[in-house]
Amino acid sequence: MQKHFTPFIISILFFSSSVYSQQTATEKMDFEKYNPTSTLVVPEHHPHKAKFPFIDVHNHQWDVPNQDIARLFRDMDSLHMQVMINLSGKSYKETPGKVNGDFDVRDNSYLVQSIEKVKKTNATRLLFFTNLSFVDFGSKNWLSNTLAELEKDVKAGACGLKLYKDFGMGFKDEKGKIIAVDDSRLDAVWEKCGELHIPVIIHTADPKSFWDEEDEHNERWLELATHPDRKRSNTNPAPWDTLMKQQHHLFAKHPHTNFIAAHFGWYANNLQYLDSLLTAMPNMYVEFGAIIAEIGRQPKMASQFFAKFQNRILFGKDNWIPEEYHTYFRVLETNDEYFPYHKKYHAFWRMYGLGLPDEILKKVYYKNAIKIIPGIDKTKFPD
Ligand SMILES: [Zn+2]
Repeated sequence: MQKHFTPFIISILFFSSSVYSQQTATEKMDFEKYNPTSTLVVPEHHPHKAKFPFIDVHNHQWDVPNQDIARLFRDMDSLHMQVMINLSGKSYKETPGKVNGDFDVRDNSYLVQSIEKVKKTNATRLLFFTNLSFVDFGSKNWLSNTLAELEKDVKAGACGLKLYKDFGMGFKDEKGKIIAVDDSRLDAVWEKCGELHIPVIIHTADPKSFWDEEDEHNERWLELATHPDRKRSNTNPAPWDTLMKQQHHLFAKHPHTNFIAAHFGWYANNLQYLDSLLTAMPNMYVEFGAIIAEIGRQPKMASQFFAKFQNRILFGKDNWIPEEYHTYFRVLETNDEYFPYHKKYHAFWRMYGLGLPDEILKKVYYKNAIKIIPGIDKTKFPD
């Protein structure tokens, strides 16, 4: 018997070792390439429309005077988006100098043209936040010019102020120093927004991972690998904690002005800490533009957070890609399990729905925005 078995065993060993070596060769696969199809069978829902009409408080349309507004409204209808807030009312992102051909950054004619254009169709559906120019910041007339500009913009129809992330990370004063988010030379601007009853939405810094070592432990490694210009360090421009502290100091210093921390203030992955901020500062609000994957990976914690801060969370998305909103509806409305996000570099993990109750959904979708942003037509929303 033994004699008959030996070659058989050897051939098994040989065969299995060659299979093994083939397997190790194919197992070496790029992280970007590995994209397994889930075998999990669970109920699925794919809401393409929000359950209630909603207001997106974080959107960008860059060329409204030349835009096909009727088409924009049709796309909004397909999602049940009743109102879009265009945060780039003045279109420009960067100072100094002129942008959009002949528009000077101090000139509000682009904003006025945009508002007039929308008035011709349905002025209550596309609203505008204005933006600040930091050209000549630190000069004698900067503040008085800026306050006058702000009043003029609000009179023209702007219903809020948006600060891009260049504020705190790029815009410089007269000495060439980066202007801190809590620079006291801006205090009168924030007070003025409070007097005008307009909210201020601020995007400060970026995900903390952009400051961390770019290695196998970094959750945003793929994003940094595909977008190397997003890498930051403690000296370029400043430590992450410093920027965040500046923002929180600013909110605390101006309790009569409502501030919306864009992108959950980059604390969506630490809701306990965000809880402490919202608890300490009743004038602070948050919107979840571009961070829904953080919410979707912690459905239990996030559901508690949404219940506790249901009066302080606004719907925001940022990038205008209509079909990506479906993911937002799925996270907020369904109880689906283990479903994908639409960008691997934001989330290589899968998500879970929060199944928020209607009362909370209504607040997040429109009630909270109506409360703090002037000029929204309430009659277009259910009670
Ligand atoms: Zn944005």
